[in-house]
Amino acid sequence: MRDVIVIGGSFAGLSAATQLARARQNVVVIDGGLPRNRFADEAHGFLGQDGRPPSAILHDARHQLLRYPSVEMMNAEVVDASAINDGFAVRLADGSEQFARRLILTTGVVDELPSIPGMRERWGTTVLHCPYCHGYEVRDLPLGVIAAHPMSAHQAVLIPDWGPTTYFTQGRFEPEPAELHAFATRGVTIERTPVVALLGVAPALDGVRLADGRSIGLAAVFTAPRTKPATPLAEFLGCEHAEGPTGPYIKVDAWGVTSVFGVWAAGDAATPLHNATLASAAGVLAGIGVHQAAARSVAEYPAREA
Ligand SMILES: Cc1cc2nc3c(=O)[nH]c(=O)nc-3n(C[C@H](O)[C@H](O)[C@H](O)COP(=O)(O)OP(=O)(O)OC[C@H]3O[C@@H](n4cnc5c(N)ncnc54)[C@H](O)[C@@H]3O)c2cc1C
Repeated sequence: MRDVIVIGGSFAGLSAATQLARARQNVVVIDGGLPRNRFADEAHGFLGQDGRPPSAILHDARHQLLRYPSVEMMNAEVVDASAINDGFAVRLADGSEQFARRLILTTGVVDELPSIPGMRERWGTTVLHCPYCHGYEVRDLPLGVIAAHPMSAHQAVLIPDWGPTTYFTQGRFEPEPAELHAFATRGVTIERTPVVALLGVAPALDGVRLADGRSIGLAAVFTAPRTKPATPLAEFLGCEHAEGPTGPYIKVDAWGVTSVFGVWAAGDAATPLHNATLASAAGVLAGIGVHQAAARSVAEYPAREA
């Protein structure tokens, strides 16, 4: 039986595993190879890595992790996880099993984009979720915010610092009076006729077509997709979830401890604040937390851990 299985080997999982490797724990990282930002050519705002492809950052992290002899990496999908005597069993898609005393879930989330034709093929290029990640690259260009939930108006108030902004209510997310006041102060134009299509040769964007046939020229649009856990593993294990502004996430304490004994979670899967640096930092805390809990547990219950 291993010390730890980390499910999900991206920003959060590799950060957790690195701490555990350095604490000489026997760890396997099992990863399906589908990090959330794989649609973007460059990652931004990650210290020392600004502008590098996400795949290159993760490649280097994996390479560095594999220098530690107690670590193994498996490229596979975990389809089930359950508690067993003194630990956990996880089942892979090929039917094989792995066993460990503790689990870290760093499986991320998936994005459910608004169902407007042309969104999916521009995701991460000219259809964006976060101005801090990709706003600088479209600075000074005409920008849109396609409302997808009640906080979209809040996002629209920020965007004028990157470029002239139009807020599309989609006929569903009318701003509150205070938000309308902020729009006026910040120079945000409001458009109440819904966007029905994105225009241009993807992934480039020329503009949007509205339901009444008009088109508006835009270079990029921001939208806040609904997010859902990338896998139901936390649910299978019985971990409690909380509801964030864009979707459910695994409930954890500051160290990534879930409601299920022996299971930690970190990264996008376990917070409503989605960002590679935050995912990595949460992974560090979970890795250290797992090691410290293991050391305490051996001290307190030597027979059980032997
Ligand atoms: C288009 C886009 C661009 C972005 N750009 C930036 C940016 O520039 N800067 C920034 O800071 N943030 C950016 N983000 C946010 C960033 O991608 C996430 O915050 C970050 O990837 C979260 O890391 P994570 O490790 O929690 O999850 P992820 O990176 O999503 O990784 C989860 C991993 O778990 C694996 N996995 C899931 N289920 C299973 C399973 N059952 N079995 C095995 N493996 C599994 C997946 O294959 C994946 O490799 C962007 C997001 C998007 C959508």
